[in-house]
Order: sequence, then structure tokens, then C-alpha cells
Amino acid sequence: MSDPKLVRFALHGGAGVIGRAALDFERETQLRHALARITLAAVVQLKGGARALDVVESAICALEDFPLFNAGHGAVLNADGVAELDASIMEGRTRACGAVGAARTPKNPISLARAVMQQTEHVLLVGEGADQFASTCGVSHVAPEYFRTPERVEQQLKAAQFGRVTLDHDALYDTPSPVDKRGTVGAVGRDAYGDLAAGTSTGGMTNKLPGRCGDTPIIGAGTWADNRTCAASATGHGEFFVRCVVCYDLHARMSYAGATLPQAAKEVLERVSQMGGTGGLIAIDAAGLVHLPYNSEGMYRGWYDGSQTRIAIFAEESILCAPAFPKY
Ligand code: ASP
Repeated sequence: MSDPKLVRFALHGGAGVIGRAALDFERETQLRHALARITLAAVVQLKGGARALDVVESAICALEDFPLFNAGHGAVLNADGVAELDASIMEGRTRACGAVGAARTPKNPISLARAVMQQTEHVLLVGEGADQFASTCGVSHVAPEYFRTPERVEQQLKAAQFGRVTLDHDALYDTPSPVDKRGTVGAVGRDAYGDLAAGTSTGGMTNKLPGRCGDTPIIGAGTWADNRTCAASATGHGEFFVRCVVCYDLHARMSYAGATLPQAAKEVLERVSQMGGTGGLIAIDAAGLVHLPYNSEGMYRGWYDGSQTRIAIFAEESILCAPAFPKY
């Protein structure tokens, strides 16, 4: 039975040191527009009866295609100046999941992750194996040049000059520029059938060692979905998120300790902070609560909580994109 009132959705475009002053008006407008457009499209699809897994995938494809986020086209570059892409996807009813790490050719890494989930008996394919699979499984694949934008080349050269491996959105250089403040993408949804799904996609960290994978392709660290607890997608300094197994820890605290989603998220992010990591997550619980906490200055985000669609970048601000959708 389908019930549009069950529909919930959230997406993120990364968390980090996002200073209002350093984000110029034109880029901010483009980013807010993309967040609103992709969030609204996802909600309309879910209200129309689309499955959470399909909507999570299509929202992430749209975020990957938008060059100002660190995923797909416009992803950050590694120390060799090459984009290596990580992604994972999971459905909450069956815990089926798939992931790819350090892939260089799938146009939409999230679709390759889904193909791993649905067309193989594996969960995670990496490197050349992931690219070989991309060329045979029916997803679009492209030359590595497709992912490189002039801004990313400049950003990687600057990070290399400073000898830093950086989060995309953290302004850690002496001369920060607006290109340093965008990030990893993710989406979580609950559909009209009550099923949850989550997915995450990234180019990782600027100037990372070739072959490095962060939390994004690690099921339980960057992505998790279980209908009994929550669907979650994380963003932040991946090494810390792997050590804290962030998204699974969220689920475990809810499942074993009976924590609410906000309590569990607070405890998980406190643990990340204690270890020195920054970032955030988006999540929806089984009852439909949408929660988007972070411990950094800002997080690009959009969400539908069952009554309104909103987007925000900074703390204590949000823009209403649409009031309640028509009643079905
Ligand atoms: N978590 C990602 C990684 O470490 C980066 C990010 O979320 O911006 O690869």
C-alpha cells in the first residue's frame, strides 16, 4: 500500500568550513538553486510513488552531474591530478548494498555502486576492477578527462604546493578561494511504501594518495540503511568517519541502546569531534524524523520533513522552497 504521507527526503552537498564571507554571491546562488531543484524533484518523484532507492540514485546522479560539488563531474583530484571516485548505496528493507572505490571512469559512480549491488554477488569493487565492470554492466562510462575541471586542477596544484591533503570545503590554504568550499554528496529517502534508502558519492579529499578510499564507499561508515532504525549518509574527513563507523554506529545506538535519532547523532558526532574529525550527516528514522546535524561551520543541505521543503548552507538559516505538497 502506498501512502504519500510517509514520504521524507534529505540530501547534502558536503560539510566543512564554509565562511559566509568567502562564498561569493554568484556561486552561492548556483549552489542554492541546485540544492532546491534536486530536492524538489526528489520529493515529487517520491510523492508520485517512486521507490526510495531509485530516487536516492537519481538525486545523487543530478548532484554528480553538477560541477560545483565534489562528486562525478567536478570531483576533486588526487596527487596525480586524477579524479578517483567513491560511492555507495543501500536499501533499508533488505540491507542490500553496493559500493565502488577509486574508480576513474563511471560517469555516475552511484549508478555503478547500484550495479555492483544488483548485478554481482559482491558489495565493493575498487580501482581497475570497478572500471572494468563499468565498461560491461551497462552504466555510462567516460574518459577520466570528463571529471577534471580547471578549478579542480588549480585546487590540487595549490594543495600540493602547501603539501596538504584537504577536505574540499575546508579553507586550509593561505589564500582560500571559493573553489575550496563544496563537497561530497549524499541522499536519504523514505518512500510512500515506508522503505528507506541511502547513498553517498565523492571524489574524496584533494591531493589524496592514489588509491585512497575514505568513508564514502565503506558501508556502515559513509552510508547505511535499515528500515528498523534509519537511513544515513555522512560527509566529512573520511579517515575519522571510518574509525567511528559513523552511520552504523548511529544505527547501533538506536537499535541496541534505544536512542532516538537526534540523541544517537549527537553522541556519534561528539565521538568524531573528540577524535579530531569534522563533518556531518543526514538521516531519516523509521518514524520519518529528518535530522541533519554537523559539527563544522556549515553543510549544504536540502530536505522535506513531511510538510515543507527547505534548503540551507549555514547554521540557523533555511530557505523555504515549497510549502506542503498537495494532499493526495
Ligand atoms: N568523506 C569524504 C572522504 O573523506 C569527503 C567529504 O565528505 O567531503 O572521502
